[in-house]
Amino acid sequence: MFSNRTGKVLVICFPYCLSEEKEAIEKYIASRLGFGVGFIDHGSYLPSELYDSWRGQYRSEDVLDYLSSLRLGSLTIAIIKEDAYVYGYNYVFGHADPKRGVCAVYTKRISGQGGDEYILRLVKETLHELGHLLGLDHCNNRECVMSFSRNLAEVDRKKPIYCSSCLAKLNKGIAGFR
Ligand SMILES: [Zn+2]
Ligand SMILES: [Zn+2]
Repeated sequence: MFSNRTGKVLVICFPYCLSEEKEAIEKYIASRLGFGVGFIDHGSYLPSELYDSWRGQYRSEDVLDYLSSLRLGSLTIAIIKEDAYVYGYNYVFGHADPKRGVCAVYTKRISGQGGDEYILRLVKETLHELGHLLGLDHCNNRECVMSFSRNLAEVDRKKPIYCSSCLAKLNKGIAGFR
């Protein structure tokens, strides 16, 4: 679909990503967005200051502040094996801050029994959050990867592809990263 972009997506894993996770993420980012991918296994968990011990979840706004402070580049996605929330929501599967070029996917609620089902969900949430960084908003097409997912059923209903309308906007967003 796209090819040979000079930009690169940086994927930082907390604490680390499995080889099957990395392979799938790299493959889908390359085929759907045309970006190369660099991986960092952070090796440790997120700083405890970002954790809301009363709720038992990370505060996603604080996580994005922390990621931004690492200054890893303008297309950074964190894969975090935890649960998190955004003010006003019980939980989120992912969260993006396009202005600062950072986003996160929280895998705890999508991991299920693992295996292919989990990998597909991980890929969808990764494409979704990167779509936000590249200028896309939520899409009303429920099969589009940019549709908003309130629960796992909605994650499973969407496909790991951008609809034609999102794809057109994506081309413009990507141009800025060439
Ligand atoms: Zn979203
Ligand atoms: Zn769409």
